[in-house]
Amino acid sequence: MAGGRRRGGATTAQQNAGAAPKTGRPKKPVEEPAARGPDVDSLGFQAMDRNVPGLSHVILQKLNMKSYEDYKSAMDGRKSGSDFGIRTYFDMFQKMEDTFKFCAECKKLPDALPDPKSLRRCKRCQNVYYCGVACQRANWPLHKKFCKKLKLVALDRLVEWLIFTGDIPFPTESWTKPARAVEGWEDWFSMQGQLEEKLSTILAGRYMTLLWANAGKPRPEDTELRESVRRLVTDFHSRPLTIGLGLRLFGIDPLAKALTVHVVGASHVETLNTRLTDYDELMKMFPGHWGIEVVMVGVDVVDGPIMRPPLAMPAPRGRVYLSSYKGLYHDFWESHVETKLAARPDLVVGFHPGFHACPDLLAGWLPTLLLLRDYRLPVLFTVYSEQELKSSLQILVELETHIMGFAANPFASLRPEQVYSSPNKAPVYCSSYYIALLGPAAEAMPGAGELEDDDGWQGEEPSAAGAAGDISPGLG
Ligand SMILES: [Zn+2]
Ligand SMILES: [Zn+2]
Repeated sequence: MAGGRRRGGATTAQQNAGAAPKTGRPKKPVEEPAARGPDVDSLGFQAMDRNVPGLSHVILQKLNMKSYEDYKSAMDGRKSGSDFGIRTYFDMFQKMEDTFKFCAECKKLPDALPDPKSLRRCKRCQNVYYCGVACQRANWPLHKKFCKKLKLVALDRLVEWLIFTGDIPFPTESWTKPARAVEGWEDWFSMQGQLEEKLSTILAGRYMTLLWANAGKPRPEDTELRESVRRLVTDFHSRPLTIGLGLRLFGIDPLAKALTVHVVGASHVETLNTRLTDYDELMKMFPGHWGIEVVMVGVDVVDGPIMRPPLAMPAPRGRVYLSSYKGLYHDFWESHVETKLAARPDLVVGFHPGFHACPDLLAGWLPTLLLLRDYRLPVLFTVYSEQELKSSLQILVELETHIMGFAANPFASLRPEQVYSSPNKAPVYCSSYYIALLGPAAEAMPGAGELEDDDGWQGEEPSAAGAAGDISPGLG
């Protein structure tokens, strides 16, 4: 749900359903038809059932779906929202919460208990459930490490609904500082005029009131709600700003010409309920830019407003234009880029590609990774955690890709998300780290010999490394 995902109770639950094994996040693409291997969503389902047997069925049932295939076709936009059987706000929030109801210690689902209503929620975090006092006590030594953070997770999960209603994000203006001077969210928030008033407007809004009238939890203090709204604002803008960061790192200047960015391996996470204006913060980031087209490419791209053909012409001046292609990236390349039906990308971005997760996913990604490498396209990938960063880097090194650099992402989402079916783990954050790639390892870098022991940005690199120099690598 973090990132593009989101929007509405049913959606959130579905996205949970798509949680991937390691991070609990809806993941990506599998750049491969299902027939050739399990995709990440079904892997997520399997992982969920390993942790809490039967949980995937509960989720499907709450959404009035019978099988993973149903879920999948809903994701593909072949089933309308009304088919989810949700009639009232209360119903929606209940169903959403129900998908989190299982004993965090013994993993029993409500139906497995003599009295399904005996499942009790932890009073502190209002996030995890227990079948009884014995399980709660047994779980506390572990849960106490995460209880505080899980409280924020549970809060943000509800407040996320305001992205669906349009209350979040608040209206923004052109950046008053150059992009290179904005080092992270603190700087970004400092540029937002009347920030407190804008947050107050959201807190006083009709939907915030409706939310707490139906959520089945007491409305938190305003200070807590403000913090939650701020975290969700970062979550909303994280992807466009990460694209902007990628442009900056590679020294690609939006003020010099119209640009095309491909989001490779896009899925429902990036495309479900995505509006035409969702990446407009890029316009604010680069005032006076020539136009930026962002094309979502992936087999799991969902039908919606942004499902329109990529442009053969440069993007309209001063605008951010979203378009989509449902299919594999190398097919798109052949049918659209080679034939000039779509522009060659100035930058390719992949949010949590997940190719490190298992051999099947890597096999699905391989043609794309090789294409990106051999056409020497500037690529920025993001990952959820340091562990994913390490395993992804290892694969990219094995593929002899030239790694320009990697670091903590200054525009990572600040919204914590729990690993869905095993809550007692450190929460993860969308796009926590980035990896920048350009071409094959040896050739891309004249004079590589003297630099080969260096992990981070290579000091003597051409424009890309120069532009990136001010971002220090997160890992050594
Ligand atoms: Zn229990
Ligand atoms: Zn707790």
